[in-house]
Amino acid sequence: MDRDENQLARTLKVAVVGGGWAGISAAVTLADAGHDITVFEMAPQLGGRARSVAGTPDYDNGQHILIGAYRDSLALMRRLGVDPAAVLKRLPLALPYPGEPGLRLPPGPPLVAFTRGVLAHGGWPLGARLGLLLAAGGWLARGFRCDAALSVAQLCAGLPGPVKRDLIDPLCVAALNTPAPQASARVFLRVLKDALFSGAGSADLLLPRRPLSELLAGPATGWLGERLRLGARVHALEPGWRVDGEAFDAVVLACTSVEAARLTAGIAPAWSGTAQALGFEPIITVYLHSRGSALPSPMLALREGADSPAQFVFDHGALGGAPGRFAFVVSGAAPWVARGGCAEAVLAQATRELRWATPPVIDKVLTEKRATFACTPGIARPPALIAPGLWAAGDYVDGPYPATLEGAVRAGRNAAHGVVGTGANGAARGSPTNTP
Ligand SMILES: Cc1cc2nc3c(=O)[nH]c(=O)nc-3n(C[C@H](O)[C@H](O)[C@H](O)COP(=O)(O)OP(=O)(O)OC[C@H]3O[C@@H](n4cnc5c(N)ncnc54)[C@H](O)[C@@H]3O)c2cc1C
Repeated sequence: MDRDENQLARTLKVAVVGGGWAGISAAVTLADAGHDITVFEMAPQLGGRARSVAGTPDYDNGQHILIGAYRDSLALMRRLGVDPAAVLKRLPLALPYPGEPGLRLPPGPPLVAFTRGVLAHGGWPLGARLGLLLAAGGWLARGFRCDAALSVAQLCAGLPGPVKRDLIDPLCVAALNTPAPQASARVFLRVLKDALFSGAGSADLLLPRRPLSELLAGPATGWLGERLRLGARVHALEPGWRVDGEAFDAVVLACTSVEAARLTAGIAPAWSGTAQALGFEPIITVYLHSRGSALPSPMLALREGADSPAQFVFDHGALGGAPGRFAFVVSGAAPWVARGGCAEAVLAQATRELRWATPPVIDKVLTEKRATFACTPGIARPPALIAPGLWAAGDYVDGPYPATLEGAVRAGRNAAHGVVGTGANGAARGSPTNTP
């Protein structure tokens, strides 16, 4: 073994700063490779944005949806002893609206199922159904790639109105948390490609049946044990590497882009500037309570409008959590954050559009102003490699995905591979970007 190989083989002392899904993913990958890790998390619990908020029973910090194509997230859950089938309800992709069956994918290979589901859509005229299949065929023929400058609204400009209203707009805002006129068509197509081409079940919806913290953060807390420092905000990073004065061979910054930009401002100003420049999109989750009520399916799509903020509603009773609790999701919520009155508008929308056994009341409102980065065309996302021995992990790191759990988990794994591939402070041999 030569000197380089010796260095690569030795146990590295690695700091992981931030314990969201990206940090957990990086920590588990590094620990499994035999490295000595310490996770610094400023909050009193792991999980970051995908966490539960204390309550009886717990509320989630926003409704989360996974899809069958999230293979790395599912693998990480299994690695930590979580059975995805026990904590997630798997449903074939369907977008029912109140009183309308909507698009429903039958079982089978996703592409065939998509074609059959579109043809069987009773609410769209035949021309609209064929128009969508024709456009989808064109995207497929071009390998689901397009000009980076294109928005989703531009990409879909030729699609029939009902298809844009009932499928493209809600899917875009759900997956990218950015409204179609401002959303990156390239990232949107990548999400479609993964949902339709990652094998059977890749387009399935996986809805949490248990509080979010039970999916990953809770099990990770036990698994990490003494390697985890909760309530430990990292204040300063010095080259070499020192985390608040403590020496490490390498560091994975798995904190938010804002914190990563702050910590690297003096070390890697160009990288820090790119991270600092990212814009954000809010998500508002309005929990309503209505005793004895149930939705016709665990998830319903809703038509967003000037006085109708929510795009989706989830029935937590049907999902096995809290009966009578309904989570209304307002993605791309910047106009509602500015305007105010979102919860009252959701309550009015819910009363107008759904049938209730008892009048619904506002239970809890959670506003995440920086829920995700704004996934706009041509956006510059910072790469995973910041400096030799210093890597970034997080849903915002350069890669093909929007801000999602899967993007975070893959970024964490990539950063860990980067650390191991470079030894400690050596030249980069790992993947500098969040590759698929
Ligand atoms: C309301 C809402 C709904 C969403 N819905 C979905 C969905 O349906 N499907 C989906 O896939 N994704 C969804 N997302 C996105 C998903 O939650 C994120 O993409 C993912 O959780 C990001 O993980 P992360 O580890 O990159 O970042 P984070 O979760 O932000 O983790 C960063 C961590 O670093 C910690 N930290 C920050 N600074 C420091 C410091 N200086 N020292 C120590 N620790 C620090 C923070 O406390 C935090 O725990 C949603 C997000 C929100 C907010």
